[in-house]
Amino acid sequence: MFIDPHVHSKEISRCSEISVEELIDAKKAAGYDGAILTNHWQAWYYSPENLKDFLKEFVSAYERGKKYADERGFTLMFGVEVTINDPSYSDWLLYGMTEEKLLSAPDLPRFNQVQLYDYCHKNDVFLVQAHPYRTPIVPLDPAYMDGVEINCHPNHGDLARREKVEAFAAKHALVLTCGVDYHAKTMDIEAGMIVPDDIKTAVDFAKHLRLGVTTIKIRDEIVKYEK
Ligand SMILES: [Zn+2]
Ligand SMILES: [Zn+2]
Repeated sequence: MFIDPHVHSKEISRCSEISVEELIDAKKAAGYDGAILTNHWQAWYYSPENLKDFLKEFVSAYERGKKYADERGFTLMFGVEVTINDPSYSDWLLYGMTEEKLLSAPDLPRFNQVQLYDYCHKNDVFLVQAHPYRTPIVPLDPAYMDGVEINCHPNHGDLARREKVEAFAAKHALVLTCGVDYHAKTMDIEAGMIVPDDIKTAVDFAKHLRLGVTTIKIRDEIVKYEK
């Protein structure tokens, strides 16, 4: 099964140009079997007292997409991309987060890296630093993450930093993931991961990542990594 584990829709992600339905149609047309909807969870999207309302909206955007995807034989899984500012600005993909867990989660964008990692571990969530070399981002403490991402966003030059990400993962025994960070139909690069066919939810995907062997696909190239 070919999936893009890093996609954004505009109901929640303010930088995305596409609705969740357009996203599903575009990905399906491009030959993907599934995707993980990792909309942004950014502190500036809501005020702390409105956290619960924001999280409800977040879940309903996914549920709307999931229904549309199910009707079309496309596997849309639930995910989150949390942005934190401590110790520095960084984006984190949370795999294995369920809708229920999200609705009762604390205000994660106000956590630091260690607190975020601790939350993920207590809740069976696999924590991946997204595009760890995208300027001005730097890879943070490898002791408090499970993986790092080779990002294929065509506008940020992330693919050129692929070798640095591979070296960082190898040095610190981290799992490698690969996603497009899809925000618009113009981002038509074919990249993502090849995963077993029985992966139906992000909880299954997190279990798969914990095995430490991942297969990524970037255009015609397929590479298997072992942590
Ligand atoms: Zn974005
Ligand atoms: Zn993203």
